[in-house]
Amino acid sequence: MHDFTSFETILFSVLLIAAVAAFIISAARQVRIITAGRPDPGRFDDIGRRIGRFVREVLAQVRVIGGRPVAGTLHALVFFAFLLFALETSSMFGEPFGLAWLPAVFGSTLGVLRVIVHVFAVLCTLAILGLAFRRFVLVRYSPDPKSYESGLVALLIVVLMLTYIDLNTTHLLSARLNWWLHVVIILSFPLIILHSKHRHIFLAPIAVFLRRDRLWDVPPLNLDFEAVEDEDEIILGLETMTAVPWKLRLDFLACVECKRCTDNCPAAQAGQELRPADFIKAGQKALLAGSEEEPVIGTVISETALGQCTTCMACENICPVGIEHSQLLAGAKFAQTLALGTGGVATEFFKAMNNTGNPFSASPQDRSDLIAALEIPYYESGSTDYLLWLGCVWSYNPDFRSTVEATVALMKKAGVSFGVLRTEGCSGHHSRRQGEEMQFQMLAGENCGQFIEQGVKRIVTGCPHCVNTFRHEYASFLADQEIAVLHHSELFARLVDDGSLRLKAPPSGNDSGAAGSRRLTYHDPCYLGRYEGVFSQPRALIRAAGHTLVEAQQNRARSYCCGGGAAGFTLEAEGENRVDQERKRHLEATGTDTLVTSCPECRMMLAGTLEETFDIAEIVLAAVE
Ligand code: SF4
Ligand code: SF4
Repeated sequence: MHDFTSFETILFSVLLIAAVAAFIISAARQVRIITAGRPDPGRFDDIGRRIGRFVREVLAQVRVIGGRPVAGTLHALVFFAFLLFALETSSMFGEPFGLAWLPAVFGSTLGVLRVIVHVFAVLCTLAILGLAFRRFVLVRYSPDPKSYESGLVALLIVVLMLTYIDLNTTHLLSARLNWWLHVVIILSFPLIILHSKHRHIFLAPIAVFLRRDRLWDVPPLNLDFEAVEDEDEIILGLETMTAVPWKLRLDFLACVECKRCTDNCPAAQAGQELRPADFIKAGQKALLAGSEEEPVIGTVISETALGQCTTCMACENICPVGIEHSQLLAGAKFAQTLALGTGGVATEFFKAMNNTGNPFSASPQDRSDLIAALEIPYYESGSTDYLLWLGCVWSYNPDFRSTVEATVALMKKAGVSFGVLRTEGCSGHHSRRQGEEMQFQMLAGENCGQFIEQGVKRIVTGCPHCVNTFRHEYASFLADQEIAVLHHSELFARLVDDGSLRLKAPPSGNDSGAAGSRRLTYHDPCYLGRYEGVFSQPRALIRAAGHTLVEAQQNRARSYCCGGGAAGFTLEAEGENRVDQERKRHLEATGTDTLVTSCPECRMMLAGTLEETFDIAEIVLAAVE
């Protein structure tokens, strides 16, 4: 620390006040943009869980590193250096007033702290140079147009680190010059940050803290119009920017433009128009331009791009700053279907749902015939343990008869008490994902009415979409009734673990049918894996059945969608850049000839990719003693 003249103290005071005032004025405008948003309840519940996530994702940078190990580690080093420098900077700001607090607090141990800060100053410099190299030189990894802003911020951080090191150790410049250079950069930093994507330094920790834990955790729309006093309170999704709730506004502003979401979006990877990073950036642009009356569809996301979304949630799952893409996608879909009534991609799906209550326009008699043919027992209130929910594909697609047969046979062999409902409507999952909230709420109400009437306590189903919907989206229709929902792979894994199902060592060779020991691959369904975290059970079953599992690229939480989400499985596949075709290429690259799925829709989309396709139930049944 050098001796400060009175002039220096006054100059520093003026600069400090000016910097703080400029920051507050600028920040206030952005705060106003955020707080002008519609209410978004439930963002402060379960504070303990939110603090835990904050520690994991912000302080320990787990997601940042996990998503991109090399760039993420470099970013984490910069972040840790910033935290340490917050101590040094606050003490430096006290120096002109004789209020440097670090020496007073740390005393003789200050030297140790300074060594640590110096180590991080060096690491931070190297990390910034590494990130800049990746951004500006390694075009393959970072092909987007280069921003001068990023270059300027990188340069300023490097100068900050070097002036700190020089001030304390190398002394190439005078202490006074170093100090002023260092401090002036710090004073200008908040303003530069606030007007660039680097505002994520302030907003990302808040967005992470406020994020909902579950993917696509979209609150139900209030469709009780009669109970609404003021017409303006009727919100049918995101028609215009005015309807954007405050957390989504914060998300738009918090985006760091890393494009991890786009890199992981199956539609973008397949070469389609949809690019999640682009619609987040477009939302930010519209907010900052004050385009409150502009329509969301058209300004933030195009109809075409919206129609390409499979709701796989690879985007939200990978975002390191807690941005919830689902809130925009769901809101735009609600508006498209309910308020605007235009542009939906699944018109045939809705027609079929309206006419027959299932996506295939099938007769309910087909389901009854299947139940009779396979001698599936009916659910008896009070005496049956599990409700076996067949779902639309199992009920109406004859290609799935062997899968239903295998599931029923396994449950009978294991002595599980189970039965099906006499009538079963669609769960409404795809209606909701397509924005048809009215249809969803009607179906959910009817189904839950049956669950309550029958006193259902446990449901098992082979459809991950139904699992997700029953577990998370039916709660408000079930009064206080609690229902445990299992995917059939979870139930089979439990039955194998507790010895109710015993699997035998299989003969080798693919020519022995599903019972032969095979080299096979498994496709993680988005709604079972990424949404529900069920990765290990299907794999454990495959191994217990004696098969060798060859993982496809992009597996587990990074799995690539089959293209069937958001009713995509009901659309006629066309065009060159198709999500299912891209996934088929991944599966073919495993060099195996057998595909195992645990979702009827994935199976519909991917059947025929390899020589044979089995549901996990068929694999288990073939290995049962
Ligand atoms: S939304 Fe998230 S993942 Fe996508 S570019 Fe922005 S910060 Fe990155
Ligand atoms: S949900 Fe899936 S398909 Fe839709 S934008 Fe996100 S990554 Fe792309």
